[in-house]
Amino acid sequence: MSNDHDPGLHPDTVAIRTGRVGDATSLAPVLWPTSTFVSPSVDDARRMATSVGADRFYSRYGNPTVSGFEQAIAQLEGAEAARAFSSGMGAVSAVVLGLCSSGDHIVAQRQLYAATQLLFQAVCPRFGIDVTFVDGTEPGAFAAAVIPGKTTLVFAETPANPKLDVIDLDELGAIAGPVTVVDSTFGTPVLQQPLRHGVDLVLHSATKGIAGHNDATLGVVAGSRELIDWLWGFAVLQGASASPYDALNATRGIRTLPIRVARQSATALALASALEAHDAATDVRYPGLASHPQHELAARQMSSGGTLIAFDVVGGLEGGRRFVEAVRIAQHATSLGGPETLVTHPASTTHVNLLPEELAANGIGPGTIRVSVGLEHADDVIADFTQALAVASAAGAGA
Ligand SMILES: *Cc1c(COP(=O)(O)O)cnc(C)c1O
Repeated sequence: MSNDHDPGLHPDTVAIRTGRVGDATSLAPVLWPTSTFVSPSVDDARRMATSVGADRFYSRYGNPTVSGFEQAIAQLEGAEAARAFSSGMGAVSAVVLGLCSSGDHIVAQRQLYAATQLLFQAVCPRFGIDVTFVDGTEPGAFAAAVIPGKTTLVFAETPANPKLDVIDLDELGAIAGPVTVVDSTFGTPVLQQPLRHGVDLVLHSATKGIAGHNDATLGVVAGSRELIDWLWGFAVLQGASASPYDALNATRGIRTLPIRVARQSATALALASALEAHDAATDVRYPGLASHPQHELAARQMSSGGTLIAFDVVGGLEGGRRFVEAVRIAQHATSLGGPETLVTHPASTTHVNLLPEELAANGIGPGTIRVSVGLEHADDVIADFTQALAVASAAGAGA
């Protein structure tokens, strides 16, 4: 009854059948809230204390509920193994600090989740780790920045914050030498599987689409047994271990992940098309639109355009501010991948302290809006955006 390992199964089917550990006859995932486990003998305890990935010794090492989630992700990504963390950043920091040492060099994409970027800019230098940033959309840029014998990690994110740039997974997978890793949070295991392109590690903020209901803070990394075992050795010392409660919510979320992503992607395409036709919205970025700079690449490596959109509201800072305050169906909140359509205005919130030229360097305009498309009816979402654009642009014209 547990995990099928038939590679011919569709992700929709895997998502329903995966993540069942042990001999439990419970159809729903089983919650093991315990922090520790009783050992029947000293020999048994010694074996648990010295085996990699033990999930019945002490919950910082591993936990059966968390194991179920890890198995589900490994199966969906076509990986040998996975390790869960207490957040997406727990996963990112474990990969970076668990694999790199003083004197090492990292090639990282310029277009990144802000906290990941800060880790590379502010933390890595403190540990003597050099980082070179490249434009991930420029063909060959990652490979050209690799210093043989010195570069230990190549870090990419696709589709990327904030403007949904798409990175060529085949190109990344072809890089030999350093460990290649892709933050696939915006893709989820449903839209793309970076490991199938030869990438070494895939990671997610499972807080987002994977858990999918804004009720878990969770991260995960998947890859070869060897790399995951190595990361496990760092993770038990790092201590950013996943909560069994969050893992339970995420395994439940995975059951509906394929169907949620399909519906959210369909609504996102309809909304992006409506925005592109609207005078008050400019620079609409959606990988599923023919106007996206890497539309052909996206069509090749993603099963749909995804669940996120970025666009600019006319009227700059004031236009953007008015837009996020005028939406009624969509909600103004940071995060993504849940059932509710969310809008954020980076220039007045997360990136408020940046100068216009610094915003531009991050690909953010004063009126840039990021949209996480939810599960409401597409017509209601489009009507809501249309009325909010009218409010934002009328105010802009009067100002
Ligand atoms: C949210 C996010 C993260 C960080 O995940 P947390 O769960 O918030 O720690 C990393 N990468 C991407 C692309 C994200 O969206």
